[in-house]
Amino acid sequence: MPEVYLVVGGSGLLGRHIAKQLHDRGDNVSVLDIVQRYDDIPFHQGDICDEATVLSVFKKCGTTCVIHCASPQAKSAAPELFWKVNVGGTNTLISTSIQCGVNKFVYTSSSGVVFDGSDLQNIDESHPYTRRALDVYMDTKIQAEKIVLSANGKDGLLTVVLRPSGIFGPGDRQLIAGLYNTYMTGRTHIQIGNNKNLTDWTAVVNVADAHILAADRLSAPVSPDTPVAGQIFFITNDDPWYFWDFTNGIWSRLDAYFPGKRQKRKVTIIPRWLGMCLGAIFEFEAWIRGRKPSMTRFTITFSCAARWHNISKAKRALGYTPHVSVSNEMDELVKWWMSLDESERA
Ligand code: NAD
Repeated sequence: MPEVYLVVGGSGLLGRHIAKQLHDRGDNVSVLDIVQRYDDIPFHQGDICDEATVLSVFKKCGTTCVIHCASPQAKSAAPELFWKVNVGGTNTLISTSIQCGVNKFVYTSSSGVVFDGSDLQNIDESHPYTRRALDVYMDTKIQAEKIVLSANGKDGLLTVVLRPSGIFGPGDRQLIAGLYNTYMTGRTHIQIGNNKNLTDWTAVVNVADAHILAADRLSAPVSPDTPVAGQIFFITNDDPWYFWDFTNGIWSRLDAYFPGKRQKRKVTIIPRWLGMCLGAIFEFEAWIRGRKPSMTRFTITFSCAARWHNISKAKRALGYTPHVSVSNEMDELVKWWMSLDESERA
């Protein structure tokens, strides 16, 4: 019987690419999301925290494979919403999957579940969860992973967890928006930290590939020694970049659209310790004024730490290869971003 896919969070950056790739290869695929952004793939509006809606969508679609990549955006929501959606919503999706006899469940987690602010270099899936999650988003991703993994094998449900790192590409409105703002306000010469920290950035098309491979391989592993069900996989481009080389890659592509805008300026390097002090001051000032800080200790930690992962397991068990390079995806991201109206980029 051909698989019937439901991409949960399929209006988002990653979910859209997964749904589109499945649609393009001729699969039966629908999307469940709280917002509709596209109309070329059957869409069901609903909140994953609402059990009745989830059950009705599963039944209506006849879902056999759930790909769950819904989450509030990492920095955007109140702590309660992360617990409600990432933990409560994932629980609902899992229990409904079991109730409806779904065969496969692929969950998008994050490489951040092992990150505590210190350098992580070439680590694989044997690395333990951090005991000090940097924020509630990561805390709830850890809990959601545990829910998904512990459901593996229940009433025939096969589950797998993927941990992408630094997803970017056309459709992204988080990373590029911040970098564009820095570019337009002439702050690209300010560098925090020594830029000796390698960081994984992953083309969204590659992450989508990995999800589809994981779904395909859940019930048909390459060999008994490389199971997929009940497993965790880091997913990256296998090509870590120095943090500020990556941001400069985006900014230099923007130069082509704004010739002469950037003057040649000496790079001002702010050491990490000073960045942390400034972050604390900005957070305090923002708290007093009741607005969002432009820089936080969290963002400083992210831009100064090494974070790159070993993806041998995904290569072996999923047959995963990052086909699209970081440079090519940067081209696509900037091309897409600049094709938007100025008002959408603001
Ligand atoms: P995104 O914000 O673009 O997409 C998430 C989608 O989930 C959105 O369309 C949103 O409307 C939907 N959603 C949120 N709450 C929902 C709810 N209650 N019910 C139904 N739908 C809901 O995010 P993304 O960047 O595509 O990330 C996809 C997944 O990958 C997330 O789980 C995220 O935690 C994970 N991830 C992202 C990154 C990254 O760099 N963007 C890195 C690692 C992991």
